[in-house]
Amino acid sequence: MFDKNYLRNIEEHVFKKAIRFKEDGGKAVGVYCAFTPKEMIAAAGAMPITLCAGSDKTIPDAEKHLPRNLCPLIKSSYGFALTDTCPFFHEVDIILADATCDGKKKMFELLKDIKPLYLLQLPQTSETDESLQYWIAELCRVKSILEELTETVITDLALSEKIKLYNGLRKAVNTVFELNTGKIPLVYGREICNIISMSGFEIDIEWRIEEIKSAIRIIRQRGGQFGSSVNDKPRILLTGCPTTNQKVLDAIEDGGGIVVAMENCGGLKTTGDLVNENEDPVTALAKKYLSTACPCMSPNAKRFEILKNIIENYHIEGVVELTWHACHAYNVEAYSVNRFVTDTCRIPYLQIETDYSKNDSGQIKVRVEAFLEMIKN
Ligand code: SF4
Ligand code: SF4
Repeated sequence: MFDKNYLRNIEEHVFKKAIRFKEDGGKAVGVYCAFTPKEMIAAAGAMPITLCAGSDKTIPDAEKHLPRNLCPLIKSSYGFALTDTCPFFHEVDIILADATCDGKKKMFELLKDIKPLYLLQLPQTSETDESLQYWIAELCRVKSILEELTETVITDLALSEKIKLYNGLRKAVNTVFELNTGKIPLVYGREICNIISMSGFEIDIEWRIEEIKSAIRIIRQRGGQFGSSVNDKPRILLTGCPTTNQKVLDAIEDGGGIVVAMENCGGLKTTGDLVNENEDPVTALAKKYLSTACPCMSPNAKRFEILKNIIENYHIEGVVELTWHACHAYNVEAYSVNRFVTDTCRIPYLQIETDYSKNDSGQIKVRVEAFLEMIKN
């Protein structure tokens, strides 16, 4: 029901609005990672655009500058920028890039030749007060950059309004996931992706929230009938690298499982916690964003807390970890996640390391089907 056609309609609406916004002189700010507060961009009157790419089409072009042995997310994103074939990248006036993994940081150095870019210097840990103070100072620099770009003063009032708006969006997305906390899940993971997708351009958020709420109502109404069709499917938690490409999600749901929750960036990792609406807005944003459970942070204890909560609340029967090739951060952390899931939570775990090509689809299908069969038995 909430298939690609549903998403296409959403994208068309958003696309038209975004192009009109740009034609009227609005500024667009590109972001790649989950540490840049989009509230601040919106409070400046600019439009945030999410740029991470998930197609292998532009990877051969990217490999003219980048090593082959690099994460496909980085290569795909850079390839789209290099070939100017991404409408989102095309519309961007400035990129706010987070200094997360080494591959991304070094790619951003090359990207600077194509678009203006500011690299947010991210602390390596979120667990000390020094890190927080450092991140607050960095966000103040970002605020000045945005004010200069849009020739606007970002007031505390404007920040507070956007914090409330984005919290509303987070609450709506969290409610979509929570549809799957009951004994019988109500929505497929693939549908969740289509329902919560921000379609690149983040504009008309109020409308987007209403669309998500309307999807929730429809899902609740179809409850019982849908439930009987998924009742005996193994309930899977998908974790790991961002699901910029749906290959593994498709393998699980085509193979007879149901992805009831996703912990990846864009999923519960980023929407689970709200921004505190009752403290100084820059401090509140700094706290929320710095606590992102990204494996580029060391240690990354928060990720294990999130995994534990999801496993308990969503009655998870198996965890599938997606890691993109050459993603050292996630691939190394996968060892600890495996031990945590199997030893502490006592449920099966499967790691799939892959890229954006279709070359290994058959092999992934066989491994996922065997995993699902094992859970059923
Ligand atoms: S996991 Fe970290 S590096 Fe990867 S997209 Fe999220 S914030 Fe960025
Ligand atoms: S998937 Fe891994 S290597 Fe790729 S951008 Fe994210 S953290 Fe970096």
